[in-house]
Amino acid sequence: MSGSEQKYIQQAFDTNWIAPIGPNVDGFEAAICDYTKANHAAALSSGTAALHLALKLCGVTTGDYVICQSLTFVATANAVMYQGATPIFVDSEDETWGMDPALMEMAILHCISLEKKPKAIIPVHLYGMPVKMNEISQIARKYKIPVIEDAAEALGSSINGKSCGTFGEYGVLSFNGNKIITTSGGGMLIADNEKKIEKARFLSTQARDSAPHYQHSEVGFNYRMSNVIAGIGRGQMEVLPLRIEQRRLVFEYYKKHLSDIQGISFLKEQEGSFSNRWLTIINIDESKTKGIGREKIRLALEEANIESRPLWKPMHMQPLFEKMPYFGKGVAMKLFNNGLCLPSGSNLTTEDLDRVIKIIHLTLKPK
Ligand SMILES: *Cc1c(COP(=O)(O)O)cnc(C)c1O
Repeated sequence: MSGSEQKYIQQAFDTNWIAPIGPNVDGFEAAICDYTKANHAAALSSGTAALHLALKLCGVTTGDYVICQSLTFVATANAVMYQGATPIFVDSEDETWGMDPALMEMAILHCISLEKKPKAIIPVHLYGMPVKMNEISQIARKYKIPVIEDAAEALGSSINGKSCGTFGEYGVLSFNGNKIITTSGGGMLIADNEKKIEKARFLSTQARDSAPHYQHSEVGFNYRMSNVIAGIGRGQMEVLPLRIEQRRLVFEYYKKHLSDIQGISFLKEQEGSFSNRWLTIINIDESKTKGIGREKIRLALEEANIESRPLWKPMHMQPLFEKMPYFGKGVAMKLFNNGLCLPSGSNLTTEDLDRVIKIIHLTLKPK
């Protein structure tokens, strides 16, 4: 926390705005628009809720197809399921680990051949690294399919100075406890289209028609952010630049001290792209480490009471999505097998990082 969060929460209490409406909600939305240069934003209860509303606003409904990145957190695909639609999973490319544009186009053409053009495309800026957004946007425009950018992990990331989340028709942000800034739980839908964001606010508050009584003509949701929670968000926005700096320093430190080990590689920023480095990931090539792989390192860290984690298990490999179509060449699966998320918190000290580094050194280069 920055220290200002409690000031905004206190204001909510002092003015009795303890509701899913109020000055903190407005202020948090304005701060996100100011930071990302999005024109409009709706503060919601979670990133998942933002994904769900974006899909609804794209007109996704039962039986529709939605192109979805396979290597992601389950929330991305779950939102598609909420609408009774079918996610068509697409593999990653190995430069950004995001959706492979060429495979994405293959998936689109496949759907079109079945006379079911996808209703939306959801690329994910994984671990803060911008996907190949220009290529993806170009293909999406060619087939006139709206893009919902899952930027839940990428607040502060950008391509040629333009914020992740502002390239597609919709951008999705998350303020869950594990993200680069947090409100304990929360999300935001951003877009340039004012009408769509107004509609998102309407749907997120039970779709109440304007009438003195409670009148409803469509199904709504209880997805709006509380004014108390939004106070935390306003305080967190004050430290977002610092958090990004801290995460990037964590990355640089690991890179500097682990690069001498054969077989370890890091995710690189592409020309013009800037990552918030939400998490630092090492990729281990077992053919260069005498067969010592990701799991050996993870267990060695665990032995020292240090938590590290494999990457997201690709959606097409999940029991839940076994029967869904998948277009790929095994890149996401390989990343899942060989990648390890290292401790990356903004508050790690160099002593903490040195402990992690030492164990990785001892595991891969035993004396
Ligand atoms: C965290 C996350 C979400 C979901 O956000 P919540 O606020 O937890 O609902 C969606 N997509 C990705 C890629 C995420 O990492």
